[in-house]
Amino acid sequence: MVSKVRLYVDQPLGQGQTVPLAREQAHYLFGVMRLAEGAVLSLFNGHDGEWDAKVTEASRKGGVLTCEAQTRPLQLPPDLWLVFAPIKKERTDFIVEKAVEMGARRILPVQSEFTNSGRVKQDRLQAHAVEAAEQCGGTYVPGVAEMQKLSRVLDQWPDDRQIMFCDETMIGAASTLAAQTRGAWAILIGPEGGFSDTERKRLHRMDQAVPVSLGPRILRADTAAVAALTLWQSALGDW
Ligand code: SAH
Repeated sequence: MVSKVRLYVDQPLGQGQTVPLAREQAHYLFGVMRLAEGAVLSLFNGHDGEWDAKVTEASRKGGVLTCEAQTRPLQLPPDLWLVFAPIKKERTDFIVEKAVEMGARRILPVQSEFTNSGRVKQDRLQAHAVEAAEQCGGTYVPGVAEMQKLSRVLDQWPDDRQIMFCDETMIGAASTLAAQTRGAWAILIGPEGGFSDTERKRLHRMDQAVPVSLGPRILRADTAAVAALTLWQSALGDW
């Protein structure tokens, strides 16, 4: 069976609800995916779960979908943020995509002292998150925040959110993740250059931070993000 087309929309979804399509959406559904009137596809909007919707009008410039039945309720990922220092463009895109697939609630790019990538385009990264959710069957799209300074993010860090601090100097230390309690968490991954001494000292002093090792080798930041998400999910998440 050919799997159904999945599309993220930002309109409300519900029984009988009609969803007008923007030009690019019509182009994708009718031009690229070759759907015609009467075809059924899956819709989600990050709030109302997943719905079967029928194409009730199709043209080059637009169209209308009509929701028929809910196929899945909203499934929120665990309350996990991924905080990371952006690296090269494609690798940053990869990190966002993987964070969505692995089940993060929020994605926060941060500028640390040794971050060498200047600006990241929030809207581009958010579009990547949407695509990843469409592809992986998710009913939720994590928000991607604008890039902020790591020091600022730590200044405002909530008391009740633990940090799985991936610290490359902890190599050899035994894992303590399994002994932690579930709840609000964040994973923190540094840039290619790693964390500065000041950042590391500050993190080690924070009550919320749990410094962890990701094995005996130094991983690239994108590998580290996937490894950390896997460890956290299997110890404290929804896997
Ligand atoms: N340049 C640094 C390595 C940075 S690796 C050095 O040579 O020491 C990029 C980020 O991935 C690190 O800041 C850390 O958050 C994470 N990371 C990579 N390997 C790790 C490991 N073995 N243990 C814990 N964190 C790791």
